[in-house]
Amino acid sequence: MSETYRIALLPGDGIGPDVTAEAVRVLRALEEKIPGLKFETEEFSIGAGEFLKNGDPLPESIYAELPRFDATLLGAMGLPGVRWPDGKEMTPQVDLRERLGLYQGLRPTYLYHGDDSPLKGRKAGDIDFLLVRESTEGLFSTRLVSRDPGSDRATDTMLITRAGAERVIRAAFGLAMGRRKKLTLVDKANVLPSMAFFRQVFDEIAAEFPEVTTERVYVDAMALYLVQRPEAYDVMVTENMFGDILSDLAAALVGGMGMSPSADIGDTCAIFQPSHGSAPDIAGMGIANPVATILSAGMMLEWLGGELAKQGAAMIDAAVRKVFAGPGRTRDMGGSLTTGEMGDAVIAAL
Ligand code: ATP
Repeated sequence: MSETYRIALLPGDGIGPDVTAEAVRVLRALEEKIPGLKFETEEFSIGAGEFLKNGDPLPESIYAELPRFDATLLGAMGLPGVRWPDGKEMTPQVDLRERLGLYQGLRPTYLYHGDDSPLKGRKAGDIDFLLVRESTEGLFSTRLVSRDPGSDRATDTMLITRAGAERVIRAAFGLAMGRRKKLTLVDKANVLPSMAFFRQVFDEIAAEFPEVTTERVYVDAMALYLVQRPEAYDVMVTENMFGDILSDLAAALVGGMGMSPSADIGDTCAIFQPSHGSAPDIAGMGIANPVATILSAGMMLEWLGGELAKQGAAMIDAAVRKVFAGPGRTRDMGGSLTTGEMGDAVIAAL
């Protein structure tokens, strides 16, 4: 049996190249461990650094290349001082989600060791939920509209379309079917008409999945419940901005941004990246935690779906569990391992 996958690498800015390099080392180690599994990788430059070189953070020529690949692994994008003339940060990773229709932002949260949670009394596996963030509309929908600098008003639009809501909610139900069959809708239907519509669509689709237990929670209450009783949740689905905020909160429950992988999935293509940004405060220091990116590579293998790829995904998961059962941690989690040493530890555990 053999499986060869073409992977586009977009390391990006700040700590992006460091953490991507570790994930690629893990993929290479899997090639050694799993006969027949092969990765053909090609690296492209997008992000704030690319903008400084060529005046465009996401050159069309690179965008046009991506469909040639089976999947894309991305590091992190953006640098604090590099902005558009109107002051907005460059976010080619968000542009990619919108342009490629990657509407399912999957943010799994898993506690590998009780000591890594700021919550008391939790042990490995107690926190294990999946946040599904709609990633093509919602409150991000007017993010590219320029504000009239002469006006004393500024607005953003929470866009919910039936098609956009249906596809992400249906996907979330499908994911819940593969887990503990519980899906929680997170919205603000009591205040915002857009969110009331999101809930209406959720209720309609819920009828298609009678085996899934459903629950509806307002986003403010969810911020409270995620801290008080995160173990109560399995799969959650929400709009873009609420998902953005809650996924950072979720990361904090299990050790921080360095432990939070993600996948942005559409109907035909997908991009995998850590949930964190370019972390300019620690860029170039060799201390970034690469685990979120390594776990994102694991999600990529699961999505690629071949038998060998899935075997690789299971091996990454098992290796990270093994490493985190022991004491080795990077600085963000109170340890002293460098980025490369954490990569070494995962590879040794494979
Ligand atoms: P963005 O807006 O692009 O999500 P941000 O500037 O809000 O990015 P991050 O870049 O994610 O935030 O960084 C938030 C904090 O988490 C910073 O203090 C950063 O150093 C830390 N951090 C993020 N990722 C990692 C990592 N992989 N390892 C260690 N620390 C990290």
